[in-house]
Amino acid sequence: MSLLYNLVNAGITNTYLVEENTVASHASGRSSGQLMLRGSKLFHELGDDVGAEYLAFIGENNRRFIKGLRAAGFDTDLRDTGGLRLAATEDELEKLNLESKFILEHRKLNCPIMSKAEIQGILPQTGFAGGMFVPTEATFNPYKVVNGLRELVEKKGPRVLTDCQVTGVKQEDKSLAVSIRHKGVIRAKRVVYCLNAYTPELLPELAEVMTPYRGQMIATEYLEDSVAQLLPQMSMTCNDCHEYFRLHNGRLLVGGMRHAVRGQQMGLINDGEISPGVFDKLRSFVAGALPFVQNVKFSHTWSGIMCATPDSLPLIGNVPGRENEYILGGFNGYGFGHALHGSMIIKDLIKTGTSTHPGVQLFDPGRF
Ligand SMILES: Cc1cc2nc3c(=O)[nH]c(=O)nc-3n(C[C@H](O)[C@H](O)[C@H](O)COP(=O)(O)OP(=O)(O)OC[C@H]3O[C@@H](n4cnc5c(N)ncnc54)[C@H](O)[C@@H]3O)c2cc1C
Repeated sequence: MSLLYNLVNAGITNTYLVEENTVASHASGRSSGQLMLRGSKLFHELGDDVGAEYLAFIGENNRRFIKGLRAAGFDTDLRDTGGLRLAATEDELEKLNLESKFILEHRKLNCPIMSKAEIQGILPQTGFAGGMFVPTEATFNPYKVVNGLRELVEKKGPRVLTDCQVTGVKQEDKSLAVSIRHKGVIRAKRVVYCLNAYTPELLPELAEVMTPYRGQMIATEYLEDSVAQLLPQMSMTCNDCHEYFRLHNGRLLVGGMRHAVRGQQMGLINDGEISPGVFDKLRSFVAGALPFVQNVKFSHTWSGIMCATPDSLPLIGNVPGRENEYILGGFNGYGFGHALHGSMIIKDLIKTGTSTHPGVQLFDPGRF
């Protein structure tokens, strides 16, 4: 949707989003709605050059994202009150320390480190070793954002074809033939695969480097006011972001814990079911990490499919060996921190064949 928005705004109006289901019915509508200044690895762990470029890419994505949502004429539930990265152990706190220094040096952004006592001042009775506050992180309602963007784009005419499953894309003469199951063929000059975890279904040659995995979340029933007031209204994560949580309309949403079950939910693409094991582990996580949230029922749980890549970086650019075909995916669980800026790279590549945005070479799918 982000790409469609960028293309249409750049005057490339004869553009359609083809969706086999409904908009935001998979990962985008099931996400936790936390905008984070990170990918699946911390920036300092990627080394100076790669880390700094990736930080510039995500930092700029998030700056534009928040600016756009602030200006949006639709409801987004945006809360740009920052994010709290919580350290479960002293080792994790040390990593956050290094990350804070890296972000200050390379983005001139101060992300203060907080002591155990300071964290307890915010989250009482908890045993976190400390944390880092990231002022530019935010929370939002992902379903509202994606669908709001759709309405904005479609003000000038329909651009989204739902219930249209693409079964294949073939080079034919000078165009691309996009086959839609039971419906026919669309002839296009260019195709961009925005399928993230589902990419290998249409580009099987990328199956080795785009691995689906299933994430799961739970939501509590409405919390008592006295409990809800103890939770800061911001994005919160811990265990190197393996667990993530936030308040949403008086409920606590918590995701993660796939690492605590056998197989870590790797290779799964069915988001129509959940793992009872992960459900149990998520409940235990709440009891252990947030002891003040007691005697509360978990009324909802759901799953969604994300996409891992071998080097923890996304794939943004030309599909190797396929002219006029591009890919925007491989977000390693942080799609909202990539999609906007990634769309700008694809837009440039379509318009001029090159782009000056950070990440152009780094994320080139040809590296595999
Ligand atoms: C539980 C969970 C929590 C998350 N939390 C966060 C978070 O807090 N912050 C964050 O930044 N990211 C988060 N993510 C990751 C984020 O949701 C994804 O990275 C992002 O939504 C990917 O967007 P996408 O549009 O590329 O993929 P998707 O939203 O998965 O969309 C791909 C679409 O392609 C369609 N499709 C597939 N095959 C075909 C076909 N053959 N023809 C037509 N259409 C097809 C699917 O129907 C689907 O709608 C989370 C993900 C999950 C599952």
